[in-house]
Amino acid sequence: MIQDKKLISLIIPCYNEEDTLKILYHEICQVSAVLNKYEFEYLFIDDGSKDSSLAILKELAESDRRVFFYGFSRNFGKEAAMYAGFSNAKGDYIAVMDADMQDPPSLLPSMLEILESDEAYDSVATRRKNREGEPFLRSFFAKLFYKIINRISDADIMDGARDFRLMKKEMVEVIIQMSEYNRFSKGIFGWIGFRTCWLSYNNVERAAGKTKWSFWNLFKYSIDGIINFSQVPLTLASWSGIILTIISFFVVLFIIIRKLLFGDPVAGWASLVCIITFIGGIQLFCMGIMGQYLAKMYLEEKKRPHYIISKTNDEDVIKVR
Ligand code: UDP
Ligand code: MG
Repeated sequence: MIQDKKLISLIIPCYNEEDTLKILYHEICQVSAVLNKYEFEYLFIDDGSKDSSLAILKELAESDRRVFFYGFSRNFGKEAAMYAGFSNAKGDYIAVMDADMQDPPSLLPSMLEILESDEAYDSVATRRKNREGEPFLRSFFAKLFYKIINRISDADIMDGARDFRLMKKEMVEVIIQMSEYNRFSKGIFGWIGFRTCWLSYNNVERAAGKTKWSFWNLFKYSIDGIINFSQVPLTLASWSGIILTIISFFVVLFIIIRKLLFGDPVAGWASLVCIITFIGGIQLFCMGIMGQYLAKMYLEEKKRPHYIISKTNDEDVIKVR
């Protein structure tokens, strides 16, 4: 009996990747040729690129029926692009990889072998052994972020983990069900559980073009990650309130006793100002924390779509529009 070949979906988020797309396409074609026991589909998610990325993708799709492109109506971010990929992938195995070759497609055969040979694993994820070639400050804050988030959230997030992973269909179905608007995939992968095998590899530099993440963007993304996966900042706000109340109780006691013993010389104007600004600062800080959670709830509640596809060659998407 001839068995149907299993299908592997490769999801590739692209934002202004005109310099790297052809290099990547060439590479994944080579890997697909090696893995000829499987069928492939390549889902390129064009995240509102302003360069000729979409044109290149259209050209590739014309000559290769495995290529599907999904052009967003504007830049929605890599998280939205990955979600679009998961939602439209039809494969038995599904992988996400960057367009810049920092997630080497040449690792796919060994990742696949682990999933095929060991039933116990549902996904194979990758992490960088080192952060060579990365600016010092960026590495420092990245490490700090992983330390903090692993301490204060349920999601188990590996330091140096990349989004590059190969998953079984069942796992991706669960990820699609996690339809939250504020997405932090590294946290979601860790939170849903499943057995994951980790592969380490040496950091690879971008094949061409420039990184799309500024330091500020990464900082905002890490704060998002913490707020999405932990309530500890809220607890921190309550605790600082409780501690300040206890301290102020003792201060009041001290002032009353001093008044009874020494009378009330008019002094302490400077210390009063310090205390007022200190407490005012803490209050605003705690309100800010609450505000962050409220803002997330507000966005969740609106239930806006994660992304809008304006151009695609996927008949299934065109049909439902
Ligand atoms: N990317 C995206 N939307 C964005 C920013 C980035 O789809 O708004 C894609 C980008 O094209 C690349 C991947 O996400 O395929 C990772 O981006 P990049 O290589 O710039 O990040 P870095 O590797 O420097 O962290
Ligand atoms: Mg990159």
